[in-house]
Amino acid sequence: PTASIMYQLQSLGDALKQFFGYTTFRPGQQQIVEEALQNRDLLIIMPTGGGKSLCFQLPALLKPGLTVVVSPLIALMQDQVDALVDNGIGATFLNSTLSWDAVRSREMAILNGKIKLLYVAPERLLAERFAPFLEQVRSQVGISAFAVDEAHCVSAWGHDFRPEYRQIKQLRQRYPDIPILALTATATKRVQQDIVQQLTLRQPSIHIASFNRPNLYYEIQPKQRQSYNQLFKKVQSHKGSGIIYCLSRRSVDEVAFRLQKDGISALPYHAGMSDIDRSSNQNRFIRDDVQVIVATIAFGMGINKLDVRFVIHYDLPRNLEGYYQESGRAGRDGEPAYCTIFYRPGDVPRLDYLIDQKPDPREQRVARQQLQQIRDYAEGTDCRRTILLRYFGERFKGNCDNCDNCCHPKPVEDWTIEAQKFLSCVARCRERFGMTHIIDVLRGSRKKKVEQNGHHLLSTYGIGRDKSIDAWKMLARSLLHQGLMDETTDGYRVLKLNKRSWEVLRKQRSVHIAITQTPVAKALSDVSP
Ligand code: ADP
Ligand code: ZN
Repeated sequence: PTASIMYQLQSLGDALKQFFGYTTFRPGQQQIVEEALQNRDLLIIMPTGGGKSLCFQLPALLKPGLTVVVSPLIALMQDQVDALVDNGIGATFLNSTLSWDAVRSREMAILNGKIKLLYVAPERLLAERFAPFLEQVRSQVGISAFAVDEAHCVSAWGHDFRPEYRQIKQLRQRYPDIPILALTATATKRVQQDIVQQLTLRQPSIHIASFNRPNLYYEIQPKQRQSYNQLFKKVQSHKGSGIIYCLSRRSVDEVAFRLQKDGISALPYHAGMSDIDRSSNQNRFIRDDVQVIVATIAFGMGINKLDVRFVIHYDLPRNLEGYYQESGRAGRDGEPAYCTIFYRPGDVPRLDYLIDQKPDPREQRVARQQLQQIRDYAEGTDCRRTILLRYFGERFKGNCDNCDNCCHPKPVEDWTIEAQKFLSCVARCRERFGMTHIIDVLRGSRKKKVEQNGHHLLSTYGIGRDKSIDAWKMLARSLLHQGLMDETTDGYRVLKLNKRSWEVLRKQRSVHIAITQTPVAKALSDVSP
């Protein structure tokens, strides 16, 4: 069946879309998948949340046979397998929590070729009774690869050494022809070397993915009432090619028309145009026949223009993933380029309203979370790179010297005391509540939810009345961006303390935050709902 799937797919991009529903690869993914398809050994280092799984999952689907995934955590296996099965992909796991019957029927499914990905814990994989089964798999359906997740567990230099991982190299001895993919988020040289040695990787291709694009300048422009004039001036200030993204087709047409009238060579691009017009406009842009393309997000997939000098989002992008991809079309030649979002907090209620109209509550939750993330980016006062890269799980220390917040910093204030109040309130509420509730408690709110949880009795109740809700929100966001506090992202956004939060609470670390000049709250209340 795999061969026929391969036949129908034009490219890896199509496979990505068909199996996972994504439109673009993240940095590194495509090359990794290509190398995996050539049966190379691979060492993949990517931050958590960066998209490692796809690097072995997509090849597993495209190659004949079974890919065996070694994974240390039973809970994690369950999640990954659930997500795959939800996508209609044959995946299963074997571990000690399963009954004998369940194990038996899963093994049958594997031998019948119904499964492309099998997740196992290392101790099971190397158990003596497992060997004959694995051998049977190899001879009946074939084994396409071994993927070793959390590969740093093999190294005593890593933070989570697991002796069982040392046994994995037996697989190489038993099955010398089957490629091994090792994946981890831990990147020290020492651990890398250890992984290569301990797993006996053969001339592995090593990928250390960073999502950072140092040549891109990131900025937010507060969107004014006369926003077109503002946009026009901005475009005038740039040399070279640029893309302007708008949310609706109507505003694409309008902006392109007005720019043309004002003497800028610009063309529209959106899904409502005929194929001929669209590809003709796209080609003229690529050939530098025209300076600016005004487009909906339909534009840009698979276009290969390296010297785009600026990307402007005239409206707030839908989510950070999209923003990263769209802004990433700038400066692919490595030369300086500019990424600007025009942002008006007053547009948020309308977006909220659109989310309310979605029929599926799960979809609503995801969309609301995505909106919050992009707002955090737009309203944030910390280094934009730090905020953007944090979304991909990458820690960036800030002071990039190439974003508006770093180049034109807003005044900073010492808010250590306030941070301690906030964090201790999170602790007193047992790390089970979100930002709004914590602020309610701090400000001594009489809301039912506060009393129902007995939080009006806490020592932190009402100790934050001196600051507005917005001031507390600003602090909370800054704590998140600076990594001084965490937030769960699986649907409900619950605030959690981390190691660094405790350093603040123990007075081992001070907290400085940049104070926003334009109060978001005021702009918000200016708009009628
Ligand atoms: P890791 O294993 O590196 O921690 P995951 O593989 O779990 O990360 O991926 C993190 C998130 O990124 C998942 O929600 C996944 O669906 C998403 N993701 C991965 N690749 C892409 C892509 N090409 N486009 C959009 N989302 C992606
Ligand atoms: Zn910066």
